[in-house]
Amino acid sequence: MTNIIECKKVSRTYNQGVNEVHAIQHVDLQVNDGEFVCLSGPSGSGKSTLLNAIGALDSITSGEVSFCGQKLADLSKSQLADLRLNKMGFIFQSYNLIPVLSAKENVEFIMQLQGVPAKKRGQIAKDMLAEVGLAGLENRRPSELSGGQQQRVAVARAIASEPALILADEPTANLDSSCTRDLIELMGKLNEHHGITIVTASHDPMVINIAKRNVRLQDGMVITDEAV
Ligand code: ADP
Ligand code: MG
Repeated sequence: MTNIIECKKVSRTYNQGVNEVHAIQHVDLQVNDGEFVCLSGPSGSGKSTLLNAIGALDSITSGEVSFCGQKLADLSKSQLADLRLNKMGFIFQSYNLIPVLSAKENVEFIMQLQGVPAKKRGQIAKDMLAEVGLAGLENRRPSELSGGQQQRVAVARAIASEPALILADEPTANLDSSCTRDLIELMGKLNEHHGITIVTASHDPMVINIAKRNVRLQDGMVITDEAV
């Protein structure tokens, strides 16, 4: 089994005026290829901080994060940008779609940055939108889609570039229970049938249940790490 993520004694301290906030402290975490991991725990327990450290979206104060055996600290800014673009897919609570682009253009956007030729990326975007259940809605802008549909576009965008890893921060936080059910089924399918490694942060019991491993954080520390 290939090791995708390795966190060794990772800490992140934020300075807030005179106070230091220990957002995560000495976190050890190893994630293998094909896993579906949920980082759970109450609000403020460090889930987003850990996810951002793994995705090289934020720096860490001490410790070491490696991606596919490569230490993030050894990579230059542009190498990190390359890694995020080509190896990782991100899904956020607020969808983060580009409002002026259609669903299809949003999905194509990252492939465009990657230099995928127009015809090929158009076809992939169409296929991915069909995969997430949005066939026929390709030309709608985010404002013309429901929250659940927008999050599906974000999922299609995240998987279009065939990332080794999907990082999702509270992906269901803004969805009602029926859209949540659809989204977690989709995530389960991506993991089961497409073998995509997923690490998601969520305190939603439905997300924790679909994941295969639950890593619980409290006060920035891992308190339990168990199969679901
Ligand atoms: P979670 O995602 O589990 O809700 P976070 O990782 O966002 O938790 O936050 C962990 C802790 O770090 C909290 O106490 C939060 O207030 C603090 N924190 C997060 N981001 C910042 C920041 N940019 N500046 C200062 N403190 C922060
Ligand atoms: Mg968070």
